[in-house]
Amino acid sequence: MDPAWLEQPALLIPLAAVLGLLVGSFLNVVILRLPRRLEHDWRAQALDILGNAPVETDPPPPDLVFHGSHCVHCKHALTPLENIPLLSYLFLGGRCRYCKAHISWQYPLVELLSALACAIVAWKFGFGWPLLAGLAFTWILIAASGIDARTQLLPDQLTLPLLWLGLLLSLIPVFVGPSEAILGAAIGWTSLWLVFWLFKWFTGKEGMGYGDFKLLGALGAWMGATALLPVILLSSLVGALVGGIALFVGGKDRSTPIPFGPFIAMAGWVWFVFGTELSLLYERWFLIGH
Ligand SMILES: [Zn+2]
Repeated sequence: MDPAWLEQPALLIPLAAVLGLLVGSFLNVVILRLPRRLEHDWRAQALDILGNAPVETDPPPPDLVFHGSHCVHCKHALTPLENIPLLSYLFLGGRCRYCKAHISWQYPLVELLSALACAIVAWKFGFGWPLLAGLAFTWILIAASGIDARTQLLPDQLTLPLLWLGLLLSLIPVFVGPSEAILGAAIGWTSLWLVFWLFKWFTGKEGMGYGDFKLLGALGAWMGATALLPVILLSSLVGALVGGIALFVGGKDRSTPIPFGPFIAMAGWVWFVFGTELSLLYERWFLIGH
């Protein structure tokens, strides 16, 4: 394949968007099925450790790749035509063709988000290693955010590969060199770990999960330690804003935990793509003004 034609943004960006739609459809499956499979495995392990004979456990939930999609209400298997990202949802009017149950808006939302993010990454990086790496970065962050938002769980199965991928890419290097990546991973993990224990020490509560440390460590591996402070500031800002709105609109009780992972992921992605522009903007606003 000659990459020359792929270097045309007019081709590359729509291509990335379509790829984003298709992968977004798979990310929906990951978001829905991965936590259920993990919980099933954990239950089996817990029973094993307790020495209980494995009581009539439920059959394992469907795997990520080989089980086709079906309606979650009536279990009707979807034909390929009913499984086209975004379009099927629009044509079916957001309802199952068989039982007319509402299809969760999560599906088109994740597909659109993935398509949009992939188009932006293609526009930003052009064709090459940074684009391929950036797409993987985007997809892992969307899957992790979706799972955290639904289940308050950031699975190691996503955060740790993201960390390793960041460290490996630093060997080429694609974004930052090895020493920046290693320091970024270590400082990212440790800083939230410290916040976690200080918070717990003072308030007796757990303000975040261990997955959050791993996620910030992974972001540090991709972008180096200098990105950590802006990412944390951005994620706190968005988190406080969304938390405030949730409190105001839903009248949510203050102790209701809001998963922090999606905000770290969102801030990390924004800094990954627009970090240079944002730091320039910051300098212009705050430094040149004096
Ligand atoms: Zn149905």
